Amino acid sequence: VKFLPLNSAEKLDRVDMKRQLRRNRILHTILRQGPISKYDLSKVLRCTPPSVGETVDDLEHQGHVRRAGLGPSAGGRRPVLYELVPPSAHALGIDFGRSHTALILADLSTHVVARAEGPTLKDATTEELTRHVRDRVDDLLSQVPGSRETLRGIGLGVPGLIDEPRGLPLARDTRFRQLRHSIEDDLGVPTFLENDARTMALAELWFGKGHSRRDFIALNLGHGIGMGIIIAGQPLHGSLGHTGEIGHLRVAFPGEPCTCGSSGCLETVASGWALAKRAAEIARREPDSALARLAREWGEEPSARLVVEAAKRGDEQARALLAEAGVQIGRALAAAVNLLNPEVVIVGGRLSHAGALIFDPLERTLRESILPALRDETAIELSDLREEAGPLGASALVFQEIFEADASELRHFI
Ligand SMILES: [Zn+2]
Repeated sequence: VKFLPLNSAEKLDRVDMKRQLRRNRILHTILRQGPISKYDLSKVLRCTPPSVGETVDDLEHQGHVRRAGLGPSAGGRRPVLYELVPPSAHALGIDFGRSHTALILADLSTHVVARAEGPTLKDATTEELTRHVRDRVDDLLSQVPGSRETLRGIGLGVPGLIDEPRGLPLARDTRFRQLRHSIEDDLGVPTFLENDARTMALAELWFGKGHSRRDFIALNLGHGIGMGIIIAGQPLHGSLGHTGEIGHLRVAFPGEPCTCGSSGCLETVASGWALAKRAAEIARREPDSALARLAREWGEEPSARLVVEAAKRGDEQARALLAEAGVQIGRALAAAVNLLNPEVVIVGGRLSHAGALIFDPLERTLRESILPALRDETAIELSDLREEAGPLGASALVFQEIFEADASELRHFI
């Protein structure tokens, strides 16, 4: 497996590019659907069997794929099945959460081989942030001997808006721009940047419940409310890179002020920060309420986590807060489902840890509110990636780049 830098791509002629593209698609399909026969590969990829067969033979010869037994007979001889040889390369994902920065090293078979974490430095300077992240990356790579050499790229999942003029992602927080350049220079591997709601959708696509699905929505219920949209197996970006801002759909008029500068947004009635605010109001007004008592027990201001805990202990006020949030989210989500017709809506993020307390009212409202024709055809599922969705999705940025590079934008090969 060889990484070719950008300038090498310019030297490839069209025939080479087509061959390289076919090779990437074959590796990608074997990874996602393997073990698979040459014939089935040619059907999935709509290529002629001889061209696919030749490429698979090359890949086997080069040690990237191997035989994995025989498939069932379709009348004649049983076909040879092929799978990827792991781990031929590694991808590193870093997720900058509100309190923790989580890192994951995954191999090309999308198995996690190492993890590391550290606090998120909120008010750090660019230099402090860069040094801190570099140390964590070194920790992680030293856990897996040889991974420094096989590292194929790094993905960064960051909160906040990412502007994407001409398809070039730029974080509004300039520290992340610097961080990206510095990591790229130091480690000599391509480094990608993406908004954390979209990295979570990529996590579902590569590691979670979106694995065998082409069209889905991944909803991230956390401090804010975000959504990643996957259409035809690809993340939807929009002209400026700002798709999926469901948290800022207006649901109340005029409503309370929102962090985005508008008012009455979904986030003002159903996000982690809105729940914390509501719980704080209750605790102030009713010092004997379960929420106030739990806040004293924990020695902190009411948070969304505290609301979830109180609800799990059976407090009716906390349960009502979560149920109301579920209803509001379900209504807003119905608009997204009607517009995008996803096969499944995958609900994740910290607030989803409340389970049925938020999920049931959300699902009920969503089903009541969507187009009747879609009611029984749209699956709604809780994510099972938990805290790992962020860093997994960041590492998936590298997989996307390796396997999805197309001829017009061929930048990285394996
Ligand atoms: Zn807003």
